[in-house]
Amino acid sequence: MTVVNGRIPLSDLRRVEHVTGGAHYLRRDASLALDRLCLIAKSEGHGTYITDSYRDYATQVRLRAEWCARGLCSYAATPGTSNHGWGLAFDGADSRTDGMARWCHANEKTANTHGWHWPHCARPPGVVERWHWEYSPALDRHRNEQPQPQGGAADMINEGDSGPAALALQMACNDYRHYGNVDRERAGNPPFEVKALKLDGKAGPLTFGIARALLRDLDIRVDTGDPIPAECVTIMSRMATRAQQRIHSLRPPGDAHAQ
Ligand SMILES: [Zn+2]
Repeated sequence: MTVVNGRIPLSDLRRVEHVTGGAHYLRRDASLALDRLCLIAKSEGHGTYITDSYRDYATQVRLRAEWCARGLCSYAATPGTSNHGWGLAFDGADSRTDGMARWCHANEKTANTHGWHWPHCARPPGVVERWHWEYSPALDRHRNEQPQPQGGAADMINEGDSGPAALALQMACNDYRHYGNVDRERAGNPPFEVKALKLDGKAGPLTFGIARALLRDLDIRVDTGDPIPAECVTIMSRMATRAQQRIHSLRPPGDAHAQ
């Protein structure tokens, strides 16, 4: 399968879960890396707003034409060459207090260890685009690690809790449900009849109901009104990761993307 700039099917990309500013997709490794950074930024109370991510060819053509009409062609790459077309760049509204690019500039070393850097093409003496950040897997020391909420971990999560442990529970539920459903579909089994949770870090009745249902699938019984041991989050995450690895090992060879 040849991967062409600006013509990557959305199914080959991953939605960035922890940004605000609409639905944003990136190549899987870049998307995981940005989610990891977003969770660090969130734990510090910073916003994660971005304006742009993967861009298809037609959009790049339109943007290029718009900038060229203003005599500023260099503000948009030649269609077919932009890192946005590979799903390896985001624009993070550096001028806004909640802009993810602003956090990345203030935490450049951390951003770099997760593969995200402010590239030379966006720095002086050329056209300065402080909002434009790119991903390089070679820099990423946490490559493909699952995003984890930052902050203190509780032993037990109680219904009504909010914070990192509650968010971790919600993420584990969503991962377990999603990858479990792919496995179930392949085996010809019906999917889990629970919805994906909104990742708001508040473990209310909906989160607990879904968590109890998914844990039953693992033969772990949590009675209504009982807290959920944090260990269950670890178990669900581990099972989800295993399912994800099985899914990826079944993908056809030649899936490596060009840089
Ligand atoms: Zn950009």
